[in-house]
Amino acid sequence: MRTRCGFHFDFESKLRPRKRMRAEVVEESVEKADLFDCLHDDIVIVILSFVSGSAERPSDLLSVMKTCKRMNRLGKSPFVLKKAALESISIGVKNWSQPTHKFLEMCADAGNLEACYLIGMIEFYCLGISNLGGSDGVMFMKKGLRSLIRATKRGHALATYSLAVICFNGGAVRKTGRHLRMGVALCIRAAQLGHVDAMRELGHCYLDGYGVPKNVTKGVQLIRDANARELAAPLNNLSVQSVSASNKQSCHPRKVACDCSPEPHPANRFMAEWFERMKDLGRRVQVCANSNCCRPELRRFEFRRCSTCAFVSYCSRACQVVHWKMDHGVLCTTRTRWLEGLVNAPNRN
Ligand SMILES: [Zn+2]
Ligand SMILES: [Zn+2]
Ligand SMILES: [Zn+2]
Repeated sequence: MRTRCGFHFDFESKLRPRKRMRAEVVEESVEKADLFDCLHDDIVIVILSFVSGSAERPSDLLSVMKTCKRMNRLGKSPFVLKKAALESISIGVKNWSQPTHKFLEMCADAGNLEACYLIGMIEFYCLGISNLGGSDGVMFMKKGLRSLIRATKRGHALATYSLAVICFNGGAVRKTGRHLRMGVALCIRAAQLGHVDAMRELGHCYLDGYGVPKNVTKGVQLIRDANARELAAPLNNLSVQSVSASNKQSCHPRKVACDCSPEPHPANRFMAEWFERMKDLGRRVQVCANSNCCRPELRRFEFRRCSTCAFVSYCSRACQVVHWKMDHGVLCTTRTRWLEGLVNAPNRN
C-alpha cells in the first residue's frame, strides 16, 4: 500500500461489494491512490474533468489535487480546467490570494469562458480600483479588459454586456473615454445572446437616442421583450422547483411575484464583498445600488443618480429599472415623503 500519501488499506469496504454511485467511485478511488496508479493519465484526466465539471464549490477540485503529486499535475491539465464549472471556480474574497489568482488565470488560459469573465471582472474592477492611481492599477485594468474582450469574442453574454457598460460609462480618467456606438453594438450582441439587461439597456438607448438614432417604437418593443423574457424565465424551471417556488417568500417589500434572480453571479458577489471590505478599511467606493450588480464607480460622479431621491446611483439604466422593481420603488417614495414631512413638520423649539 502507498504510504507516501499516508493511506491505509480499507479491508471492510473491500469485503463488502455493493453498487456505487459515480461520484462515490471517484471519491473512493481518489482516496486509494494505488487504484489510480494502474490507470493511464488520459483516463484519470477524463475522470478529473467530470469532478471539475460537477463540483459545487472550489474545494471539491482543489482537495482532489492536494492528494498527491500526480493528481496535482493532472488536475492542472487544460482539459480539466476548461471543463471546470462556475461553482468550482467561484472564489470568495476571504479565500483570495496569489495562488487562487494564478489558478483562475490558468483556467482562463485553458479556454474556460466563465473563468475568463470572472478574472476579467476581478482584475478590472476590484484590483484596478484597489490600486487606482498607481501603475499597478492601470496594469490590472488593462489585463482585466483583455480577459473580458477574450470572453466576448467567444460569445460570453455577461462579458459582452460588461464591456458595453464600460463603453457607455467611460474610463477611470475622463468622461471623454466613452464609446457610445461601440457600447450599443456590444449591447446588440449581448441581447442576441439572450442577456435581458442588455435588451433593456438597448431599449432605453433607442428611446433616448443614446448612441443610436432615436426610435421610440423599437425601444418600447425591446423593453417589452426584455420584460416578457424576464417573466418567462422562472416558468422554464417551474417544473423542477414547483415546490420550492410556492414556499418561497417574496424578497420585495411590495410582495410582487419575484422575477429577478435571487442569487447574484459569483463575479458580482465577489465585487460586493470586496468593496464592503474596502469600506471597512476606510476607503469608500461608490457602488451600483443594485445588489445583484455592485459595479464600482471608476471616477467621481460617473454613475447616474435616482432623479427622485438622489440617494442611490446606478451603473446603467438597466440596473436602475431592476432595483426600482426590487425595492427602491417603495423606499424611494417613502424617503421623499419622509423628507417632505421633515420640512413641513412644525418646529417644536
Ligand atoms: Zn426578487
Ligand atoms: Zn449596476
Ligand atoms: Zn430614489
